[in-house]
Amino acid sequence: MLKIAIQNKGRLGEESFNLLSRIGIEVDTAKRKYLARASNFPIEMLNLRDDDIPGVVADNVAQIGIVGLNEVEEKGFDVRIVRKLHFGHCRLSLAIPKGERYPGLDYFRGKRIATSYPNILTRFFKARGIEIRPVVIAGSVEITPSAGMADAIFDIVSSGGTLVSNGLKEVETVMESEAVLIAHPTLSEEDRQLVEEIEFRMESDSISRGKKYLLMNIRQEVMTEALAILPALSSPTVLPLAAKGWCSVHTVVDSSDLWVKVRQLKAIGAEGILVLSVDKIIL
Ligand code: ATP
Ligand code: MG
Repeated sequence: MLKIAIQNKGRLGEESFNLLSRIGIEVDTAKRKYLARASNFPIEMLNLRDDDIPGVVADNVAQIGIVGLNEVEEKGFDVRIVRKLHFGHCRLSLAIPKGERYPGLDYFRGKRIATSYPNILTRFFKARGIEIRPVVIAGSVEITPSAGMADAIFDIVSSGGTLVSNGLKEVETVMESEAVLIAHPTLSEEDRQLVEEIEFRMESDSISRGKKYLLMNIRQEVMTEALAILPALSSPTVLPLAAKGWCSVHTVVDSSDLWVKVRQLKAIGAEGILVLSVDKIIL
């Protein structure tokens, strides 16, 4: 039976679970225990701490998993990155006390740098020929400079608010991260087909994100103008209406362009504009 490892709680847990549910892999939330079988897909969900996910996939205990790219890079296990999942965005950065002058990476020579990501940190400085002293700590990395335990930190940043409230400033971004789907490098034929199906569904889900379905009535004589406003990628559907000289136009637009398009369409006399959510786009 194919197994997928996801974070049991934490920052990625809920979104991983929701993504699986959007692609038709559902587990009764009341039964969301350590190992749970999906009701409508031949897969079991393994709910773990995020640190353990790359390892269980490398060991083939779970054949696939959803985890931050930062954890994959830190653990260094042999797993295949199947696709990026467009959530859980963050970066791994170096930060120093805010009153310090920062002349560049040489600043860190011989300095104690607190982190939960010692492998990524040492690899980064080794490649640049700079000796540093890593201080490995599991959590609360941001308090180590004021506690006198370290001179600088290397940690996850998303908004930067935590750094500021601890009197630190971000000086270098070492890597950008987001949640990724990972897989064991060699899968059985049966598992490979199931993973392909999951990828196909994830692709459809991702294409439909941020898209709206737009319907409106347009006079035949302004059709050329209407088609110039609407996106060229998907040719709009044009259907004649019972009222003479009028057509119904249907198309898909990016949510970010929606209001600009609506304004332009109204300006050429479009009527009865309907905007609908798109659940899935299958290409
Ligand atoms: P666990 O108990 O599973 O070990 P954790 O405390 O190690 O959880 P979380 O804080 O839940 O981990 O973060 C999980 C992942 O979420 C991180 O590894 C990272 O990829 C991503 N992430 C995104 N934004 C942030 C952020 N602002 N702070 C921390 N992690 C973030
Ligand atoms: Mg963790």
